[in-house]
Amino acid sequence: MASPEIDALTQALARLPGLGPRSARRAVLHLMKKRDTALAPLLRALERVNDNLSICTTCFNVDTVDPCGICTDPRRDDRLLCVVEEVSDLWALDRSRLFPGRFHVLGGRLSALEGIRPEDLNIDTLLGRVAKGGIDEVVLAMNATLEGQTTAHYLAERLEGFPIRLTQLAHGLPVGGELDYLDEGTLAQALRARRPVS
Ligand SMILES: [Zn+2]
Repeated sequence: MASPEIDALTQALARLPGLGPRSARRAVLHLMKKRDTALAPLLRALERVNDNLSICTTCFNVDTVDPCGICTDPRRDDRLLCVVEEVSDLWALDRSRLFPGRFHVLGGRLSALEGIRPEDLNIDTLLGRVAKGGIDEVVLAMNATLEGQTTAHYLAERLEGFPIRLTQLAHGLPVGGELDYLDEGTLAQALRARRPVS
């Protein structure tokens, strides 16, 4: 029987995505056994992130600095902008540097069912970034879901008239496929074979 403190920790961990009660119990036992090498570093890392957590006011990525590390990375190509639904999609595309440009996170996708309208997403800020100029290509990297594609169509309409090349991921992506779940090979292929929005 664990104390209320240990129970509370186990329950908090069990609520994390990908964990459940069983893995949470194992993690807690491990943390308690390895107080100096596991528990203390984890605590410090959590505190540092918690103290500095911020949302990038340029691209809406989550980071501990604003503007975020991607927006300030001088090695990235300013002329390429990739639009994604969620931060998890940005992180998926950013793993192993699949995309050399900058990003813009919409914060969701249009959904009649869930009542998510254009004004609920970071679309005006996207148009503002494109209107400022200096961007040659905007890649619409929405998920291969009905709502993702509806969102891409809507964005394509709003971006019409800007002097940019508008492309989208080649959907050799499985239908219903969410970027976050794709392996890097499939993602890289979808990016390389990206095609103009028709
Ligand atoms: Zn940013």
